[in-house]
Amino acid sequence: MYLIILGPPGAGKGTQSVLVAEKLGLKHLSTGEILRKAVTEGTELGLKAKEVMDAGNLVSDDIMIGIIKEAISAEDARKGFILDGFPRTLQQAVQLDKIMESLGYDGLKVINITLDDNELIRRMLGRGRKDDSEETIKNRLKVYCEQTAPVREHYKQNTAVFDIYGIGTVNEINSRILEVLGK
Ligand code: AMP
Repeated sequence: MYLIILGPPGAGKGTQSVLVAEKLGLKHLSTGEILRKAVTEGTELGLKAKEVMDAGNLVSDDIMIGIIKEAISAEDARKGFILDGFPRTLQQAVQLDKIMESLGYDGLKVINITLDDNELIRRMLGRGRKDDSEETIKNRLKVYCEQTAPVREHYKQNTAVFDIYGIGTVNEINSRILEVLGK
C-alpha cells in the first residue's frame, strides 16, 4: 500500500502516519524529520535547509524530489510507504507520479486531514518546535494555502482521496483513517 498523508501544518500528520505505518507495516517517510535531522547533524543539506525552515518557507523542489526519489527507491519501501510532508507543491506531486510509475508502484491513496486555522494555530503553539513561533506559523499556513492545497486538487483528478476530519482523540482519528482504507 502506498499512502500520502496531506493536511495543513499542525493537523496531526506526523502522529497519524507513525500509527498507520506501524499498523500496516509501511515505511514512514517524513520529509520534515529528514530535514530536521540534517540540520541537527550540520550536513550540507541541513545547512541549506535551516534558514528556509526557520522562516516557514519551503525547501526547493529539486532537493526534496531528490530525497524522496532515493528513499522510495530503497528496498524497504517496496512493501509500501506513507509519505508525511511530501508532496507540498504541484511540481513535487507531478514528479512523484513519474517516479512511482518508473518504479512500478501503483494504487496510491491520499489521506487528507482537514482542520480549521484556529485549532491549527493552538496546536502548533503548544508544540514548541523552533518553527512554531507565531510569525512563522502564520507564514506556514499561508504557504500551505498557496502551494500545498492545490496538491489535493491534483490527486482528486485520478487518485483515491479520503478527507478525514481532524478533530477528536488520536485514536478516533486513527480509526477514521483505517476505516476508509478498509483496515
Ligand atoms: P513538517 O515537519 O512536515 O511540518 O516540515 C517542516 C519544514 O520542513 C517545512 O515547514 C518546510 O520548511 C520543510 N519541508 C518539509 N517537507 C517539505 C517538502 N516536501 N517541500 C519543501 N519543504 C519541506
